[in-house]
Amino acid sequence: MTAKLVDGVAVAAKIRSELKERASRLTAAGEQPGLAVIMVGNNAASAVYVRNKIRACHEVGIRSSRFDFPADVDPAEVLTRIQALNADPAVHGILVQLPLPPHFPIPLLLQAISAEKDVDGFHLYNVGGLVIGDTVFPPCTPYGVVKLLEHEGVEIEGKNVVVVGASNIVGKPMALMLMQREATVCICHAKTRDLAQFTILADILVVAAGKPNLIVPQMVKTGAVVIDVGINRLPDGKLVGDVDFAGVSQKASLITPVPGGVGPMTITMLLANTIGSAERRLAGANRSAA
Ligand code: NAD
Repeated sequence: MTAKLVDGVAVAAKIRSELKERASRLTAAGEQPGLAVIMVGNNAASAVYVRNKIRACHEVGIRSSRFDFPADVDPAEVLTRIQALNADPAVHGILVQLPLPPHFPIPLLLQAISAEKDVDGFHLYNVGGLVIGDTVFPPCTPYGVVKLLEHEGVEIEGKNVVVVGASNIVGKPMALMLMQREATVCICHAKTRDLAQFTILADILVVAAGKPNLIVPQMVKTGAVVIDVGINRLPDGKLVGDVDFAGVSQKASLITPVPGGVGPMTITMLLANTIGSAERRLAGANRSAA
């Protein structure tokens, strides 16, 4: 079997063109969507992500603002900025680019973002919403995976899903979202003994561990759908995922490449969350005016 390749760039472009229309309707109604991005320090990878987010906002018609702080800034100063953004009606989404410098109280900052502007979905209120299957801000990367699966017509209900990786931003929300769609979900992590005994059972295998070549063909069921979230830079500069792409694509029925699979979806879902937030604000304003 040779797997069909999932073209994340094409799916993201399709969704972005729909988002552009929604943004332009909002702007016409006087509610241009706005995203504020806070960056602390000068982590090179974060700088690239932030630049890409700002550019993507511009492309779909979201007004973006960026707030840069030096790595040694007093966290109280960042908190003050978050509070000002919470109160700013032109801002519908606020995100703090992670990681933050070691002295930063990350939970405190994430909880300071208004739950109504928490486009990354990391506020405890939204995490709780995710657990009970009722959140308006699904975390962007797993949300992007769900959209890719939907786009490819992959049935989720009743399927065996294995998620490799249990982080708060990818693995755990991914597992919850797929469980909500009535899959039988197993989560594996760095302490899992004999990973292969779990992955081999997966109809849908989502890998988000950050370990190149973690998943080799012997660990994958023939015909499985394989979603590779990992992004790893090899010493020669090449970008790869967590899955042995050449080998596993001979066994899977559907596979995402790296780059060009899940990556382009993450920022797209950030745009979707920001536009969704602006739509809710407008609907609320219209209700109060009625
Ligand atoms: P993380 O380091 O916070 O978490 C990694 C998880 O993988 C942990 O739960 C850990 O226990 C598990 N893990 C590590 N080694 C393992 C092993 N040998 N076997 C099984 N589990 C193992 O990372 P993260 O933030 O969740 O990101 C995971 C990967 O996804 C990284 O490569 C990251 O760059 C990538 N990522 C991609 C996107 C995207 O847009 N495509 C977004 C976020 C993260």
